Amino acid sequence: MRQSNLFMPTLKETPADAVAKSHQIMLRGGYIRQVTAGVYAYLPLAYRVLRKAEGIIEQEMDKIGCTEVLMPHLLPATLWEESGRLSKYGAEMFRLNDRHGRPSLLGPTHEETFTEIIAKNLKSYKQMPIMLYQTQTKFRDENRPRFGLLRGREFVMHDGYSFAASREQLDAQFDAQKAAYENIFARCGVEVRPVIADSGTMGGKNSTEFQAPAAAGEDTIATNETGTYAANLEMAVSIDTFKQEPEDPKALEKVATPGQETIAQLAEFMHVPATRIVKSVLYIVDEKDKVLVLIRGDKEVNEVKLTHALDCDSLRVANDDELKAITGAAKGGVGPIKAAWADKIIADETVKGLSNFVVGANETGFQYANTNLDRDFKVDEFADLRTANEGEPDPVDHLPLKFITSIEVGHIFKLGTYYTETMGAKFLDQNGKAQPVIMGSYGIGVSRMLSAIVEQHQTEHGVAWPKEVAPYSIHLVQMKMNDDAQTDLANKLYDELSKKYDVLYDDRKERAGVKFADADLVGAPIRITIGKKAKDGIVEVKQPTEDKAQEMSVDELKAYAT
Ligand code: ATP
Ligand code: MG
Ligand code: MG
Ligand code: MG
Repeated sequence: MRQSNLFMPTLKETPADAVAKSHQIMLRGGYIRQVTAGVYAYLPLAYRVLRKAEGIIEQEMDKIGCTEVLMPHLLPATLWEESGRLSKYGAEMFRLNDRHGRPSLLGPTHEETFTEIIAKNLKSYKQMPIMLYQTQTKFRDENRPRFGLLRGREFVMHDGYSFAASREQLDAQFDAQKAAYENIFARCGVEVRPVIADSGTMGGKNSTEFQAPAAAGEDTIATNETGTYAANLEMAVSIDTFKQEPEDPKALEKVATPGQETIAQLAEFMHVPATRIVKSVLYIVDEKDKVLVLIRGDKEVNEVKLTHALDCDSLRVANDDELKAITGAAKGGVGPIKAAWADKIIADETVKGLSNFVVGANETGFQYANTNLDRDFKVDEFADLRTANEGEPDPVDHLPLKFITSIEVGHIFKLGTYYTETMGAKFLDQNGKAQPVIMGSYGIGVSRMLSAIVEQHQTEHGVAWPKEVAPYSIHLVQMKMNDDAQTDLANKLYDELSKKYDVLYDDRKERAGVKFADADLVGAPIRITIGKKAKDGIVEVKQPTEDKAQEMSVDELKAYAT
């Protein structure tokens, strides 16, 4: 590609509203442009990276026998009614009516769509195991779309679904997907930690998140010092907390005067190291599990927030009088109080996924519960939490834990039979008996991954793209367009190298400074500068992570490029 033909609308200044480094670089480099909040146009550079990442995914899925399909974006609400997720999914779902008034939606994920196809088209155990995937635009009306492609309302997801006739088949599919994901991330140049995760609204139990450590991440993962244990914050704190039984049941009442505790006092009260409380949430619920008070542990202060429902829209900061009224009511008026210890970071006003684990106190003393899967949680689901994590190392054996900010780039689930049972996807087993199909689901945020790559590979003035996803693998930069020796050599190299590589040739009549600044933003793994010594067949070669270029003859260059 000749750069004179490339649409790359660079910006000299960093846009004021872009906070994340990756967002800034992608805007400055003319990779993306926002169309509306959380909705982006992929310009040529970003689209090339996206397509390369999709290509890698396709190859790795081929290897494990997972085949590509394409499902519709526009879905009937009835499909989601069947699974019971229509109301559960909440405000994040884009809903619309068609001209006949039929409720419809834009797919935020596709468990239902795939399950329905299987329900109608699969009959026998002989047809399994099956794995299918697609790479497709998803729609989620996120409360706070931000950081460019990191949290969009429209984004590209690779989502895969596995169907099995036995647990063993599911386990094998899950392991194959996990291994494929590790290859995908490695080839895309994303450093990831597979972590034990909670399954959110997916309705499954066993799940692993792929978390990419990066400053712009909205998640926090906990690892031990040697890196042999890693979990997202929900699971790490969940498992950890129940080990720390407060000695004095009455102490819980102390929590009913929020705002007065410092982090250190809270830590002492909870019998956990203070770091554990940082960025965590303590909240008090009434007997109906309605959240009354939230205390958010921040670095030094407790931010006190108040809400009347588990509905994020109603969350706000309480004033002193309100707090007094509520804590007073909680203490006296509304019956047994449960002081709940939740462990999810509340990123600003977002409360989604708030309560995962509860330490509760009532007249009979302390009780524990896992509220992950059911809001109508039962107090003795405590045991459930333990089975969900069977086989995983116990974090208590791995203290002290380190906390790392990271980006969730992928998430894989053993769903079991939740969808297939509710939606009637059955097969006949070897004995001719009808059984529900056993399912898994697997997702990578492909567009989000672009941002994660830039986060992890940013340079002082741009980005150093990993080889396999770079928009161009070689950037040929000609210094002076009116120098015949330079033009001859550039054209010769361009023709030759283009046979094997994606070459971008900067043939623009621009100053050297402009060309180099743009080259930093293109971030090709190899930059070849054709300057004064072109007449002697000498060029300068540099990788984006190197400070200095090295001179090479054209022959040396050919050896170097391979
Ligand atoms: P998050 O916790 O960041 O909201 P999620 O857990 O809701 O993500 P999943 O339902 O697990 O997301 O979807 C699979 C993958 O899709 C995620 O691991 C993530 O990489 C990507 N993804 C989810 N939401 C977004 C979004 N709003 N923008 C870009 N990518 C997203
Ligand atoms: Mg989400
Ligand atoms: Mg998540
Ligand atoms: Mg997830």
